[in-house]
Amino acid sequence: MNDSTTIPDSKLCKHCNQIKPLDAFGPKKRGLYGRDAKCRECCNAHQRAYNAENRDKRKAAYANRTEEQREARRTWDRQRYQKHAEKERQESRDWRKANPEKLRAAKRRWNEANPERIRANRRAWAKANPDKVRASKRVNYINHTEKAKARARAWAKANPRNRKAHEYARRARKLASSGKITPQQLKASLAYFNHRCAACGRPAGLWHTLAGDHWIALVNGGLNTANNIVPLCHSLKDGTDGCNNTKRSRDPLEWLHTRFGPKKATAILARIQDYFEWVRAQSE
Ligand SMILES: [Zn+2]
Ligand SMILES: [Zn+2]
Repeated sequence: MNDSTTIPDSKLCKHCNQIKPLDAFGPKKRGLYGRDAKCRECCNAHQRAYNAENRDKRKAAYANRTEEQREARRTWDRQRYQKHAEKERQESRDWRKANPEKLRAAKRRWNEANPERIRANRRAWAKANPDKVRASKRVNYINHTEKAKARARAWAKANPRNRKAHEYARRARKLASSGKITPQQLKASLAYFNHRCAACGRPAGLWHTLAGDHWIALVNGGLNTANNIVPLCHSLKDGTDGCNNTKRSRDPLEWLHTRFGPKKATAILARIQDYFEWVRAQSE
């Protein structure tokens, strides 16, 4: 007789006006038949719309949670996890499989936040795996050597003038020649000649660079000093037509005459001798 004791297996959603099975409605103690007035689908849609509209606000609120809120969430998570442990574990495994980048990022964050635990874990692992430690040390040694070599190459490339200075010093040592040229002196010589070739006057460009040249070659007894080095153009293209390329260890006067003719050769020689005078004056 009393209808309220009979619970039907469906009811009407107040929102979408559809009759749906009872379990399509969330539980609500004081709702009709102990169920929500809106179906789960409508509730979810509403929540999604709200979230989309309040994205920034929600983000800010999440970032500004109090420590109690965080702890409450952790407790809730823990309890929920214990309740559904096996299901959670499977979900977690699936998530890890599906989100390798996110997993890596999370691991990185954890590692950054827990350096002491990382060190302790490593120590324990190393103690338990001495053979693996030895093998990994060998690999590291090789990798680091390669890395160090690469760094040296990159540095040399980024500091060409400096490298030249080292190169000259090395050659000078090899030839038991005396003297020393500093990067500053090489820089000063370039500035003196307005960043142009001391012989032909060509600036550095697409096809030519400027190289410090021993005016009297080291092999002919020239010194590795600032008053024996001038910037000469050097071909980048095929390494043949620059002043530096054609002069090599030839006698400078003879080379000037064949390359520029007697008149020009005299003027160039005067300019270079002026420069050497200037260098000597600088060092006094
Ligand atoms: Zn509905
Ligand atoms: Zn030149």
